[in-house]
Amino acid sequence: MSTSSDGTPQAGRIAGNRVRVLLCQHGLSVFDYKMPEGEALQPGDVVRVPLGPRQVPGVVWDADAFAVQEVAENRLRPVAARLPVPPLPEATRKLVAWTSRYYMAPAGAVLRMVLSVSDALEEAKTILEYRVADPLPDVPLTRKRLEALELLSGKQGTVRDLSKTGVTESMIRTLVSAGCLRPVPVAADAPVPQPEPDFAQPVLSAEQAAAADELRRPVEEGRFAPLLLEGVTGSGKTEVYFEAVAEALRKGGQVLVLLPEIALTEPWLNRFKARFGCLPTAWHSDLSQKERRRAWRAAASGEAKVVVGARSALFLPYPDLKLIVVDEEHETTFKQEEGVLYQARDVAVMRGSLEGCPVILASATPALETRLNAESGKYAHIRLPDRFGGASMPAIASLDLRRTPPERGRWLCEPLHKQVVETLERGEQVLLFLNRRGYAPLTLCRTCGERITCPMCSAWLVEHKLTGRLHCHHCGFATPIPANCPSCGAADSLVACGPGVERVAEEVERVLPEAKVAVVTSDTVYSPAKAAAFVESVETGAVNVLVGTQILAKGYHFPNLTLVGVVDADLGLAGGDLRAAERTFQQITQVAGRAGRGSKPGKVVLQTYQPEAPVLKALVAGDIEGFYRAEAAARERHGMPPFGRLAALILSGPDLSAVNDTAQSLARAAPRVTGLEVLGPAPAPLAMLRGRHRMRFLIKARKGMPLQTILNEWLGRVRWPCSVRVTPDIDPQSFL
Ligand code: ADP
Ligand code: ZN
Repeated sequence: MSTSSDGTPQAGRIAGNRVRVLLCQHGLSVFDYKMPEGEALQPGDVVRVPLGPRQVPGVVWDADAFAVQEVAENRLRPVAARLPVPPLPEATRKLVAWTSRYYMAPAGAVLRMVLSVSDALEEAKTILEYRVADPLPDVPLTRKRLEALELLSGKQGTVRDLSKTGVTESMIRTLVSAGCLRPVPVAADAPVPQPEPDFAQPVLSAEQAAAADELRRPVEEGRFAPLLLEGVTGSGKTEVYFEAVAEALRKGGQVLVLLPEIALTEPWLNRFKARFGCLPTAWHSDLSQKERRRAWRAAASGEAKVVVGARSALFLPYPDLKLIVVDEEHETTFKQEEGVLYQARDVAVMRGSLEGCPVILASATPALETRLNAESGKYAHIRLPDRFGGASMPAIASLDLRRTPPERGRWLCEPLHKQVVETLERGEQVLLFLNRRGYAPLTLCRTCGERITCPMCSAWLVEHKLTGRLHCHHCGFATPIPANCPSCGAADSLVACGPGVERVAEEVERVLPEAKVAVVTSDTVYSPAKAAAFVESVETGAVNVLVGTQILAKGYHFPNLTLVGVVDADLGLAGGDLRAAERTFQQITQVAGRAGRGSKPGKVVLQTYQPEAPVLKALVAGDIEGFYRAEAAARERHGMPPFGRLAALILSGPDLSAVNDTAQSLARAAPRVTGLEVLGPAPAPLAMLRGRHRMRFLIKARKGMPLQTILNEWLGRVRWPCSVRVTPDIDPQSFL
């Protein structure tokens, strides 16, 4: 039966009392159910429905959105209940459908990101609070009771809360049964604080004020507009987009701010509070169950005016979005690499167009794609070319390690070492950047040459001194460092090869006794509280040498930090993936941007074996425009994004030959279409991950081709053994 054959015009209704429901399931996820007696369910209503022996949440969906298998009228099961939450707004439903189609992900899996807190779908739990009845009942009152009522007047709380006034709990209970205290049921969820748009307005420079005006205007006009805010590090981008946030608040709407990593939000939250008078609603994995429930419900009801979070905050069912901000929009962490593979920045722009609200993409080093969109006029381009308050940009120089190699067993060369010493002598702070967690990336047996790898992945195990173990950075496997070589059994034969941040920190501590070193990685700064403690240790000077990964590269503002040393500027260039140079450029610019943010000028040195690499030359020369131009030209020559489109298909399974066979039959069924090129199958660089063997196809298509349609047809032509999984990755960022 098709939707229209019965001619029932009502959306969501299919015929008579049939409704279509999308379930939060990974596989088959759209079913028809019977409308419960006396209920008129509408698209968007959140319901609980039977599925086999269980009951699961789902959403009544627009009837024409999905084709489903017909179920005979007499076999339809009724919807169990409508859940007490606001219906999913139409724009959110469209977002789910679009994300599912574009990223070739099951709609139910996308919906699960929206209804991510099952707790929040149930009735608000109420608790009983009490306050003095007015008027008091006509009962005789002893002096003691009158005194107690005096103490309690104007207060409201639970028995326990009220006992803090000094009135005993038993007296409170007596007053309750006498009717002198009246019960007041209240929601267990505390109300979220409301930011005030004009709490503390900053004095903007003329340049900042002009940029703020441009960002504010589309908010005021309430229309979709993608805007790139490109400003050098320290130019005050946050301060400037806060003005657009303020405008959305004045209109009474909601604002979503996406940050690349929640560990980095601490300084951001403090600035928000200083500007708007209270903290925003945070959305991240570190919340307690109660906080998650609270945040979800406040976002869904519209009560939470500003939600800040990592990419998953993008899928909350906001009823009234007036602005979306993606800060550090170029960051690769906006790409989700597990479950539904989506690029949050791109989905944010789509959401803005569905909601009819502006989307601000902020960065000092925009993604090439974003920048080209701005240059072509598709996005408005708003620039802040200077640092705020007259601070100068740091000077960048490279140190050629072929000429001044570090001593054996050390990782900092003499000239860098000397600059560290001089900086510390001036009482200033140093940041040493190496984007590699742990102590050493490889452990090798001197006797037999064995490299210790993960039993589940084709990857080396990384030694971590912090835990005293070897860790796999891909699957989380960890094992104590063996005493003997696991291959030849030789004793005392294992050696650590290469540096991680812990090893660089060890070197600094060894050769510079005056250094107070902190290692800053996701292993040491993994929560907002840890980040706050870290910020304080730097601000008070308890720490003067920071050794860290990319989590140190952005967000922080340490005015006394004047030297940044990039320990291995070549690291990101190895491997040669599509965006290697772009990422190196972004990462080094970001980390360089931590230097000299106050009144003292900053300096950045890059240790490299290839100072002639174009990206490093551009960094040293400060030739940003030249770098983007050269990158764009190279991509255009090769038809690479954004001049062409890419998709990957990753086949994986526990049985290598089944994966291989499936890859071969997929290759035989490959589409032959002009403008589309299928590369592979090839073993993935990460040929085994979590015990699953992996093969990859890379599909390169001309712009404007219906890539997803072609891929769907292709995948439909092949029979899949159930042990082999295929994961489409649209606009892939990782080529592992
Ligand atoms: P960006 O995000 O562009 O690197 P920030 O927004 O972090 O820059 O601003 C850098 C520093 O300058 C911050 O400490 C910020 O508080 C300060 N700042 C920027 N603009 C102003 C302003 N108009 N008034 C006061 N301080 C400002
Ligand atoms: Zn592993």
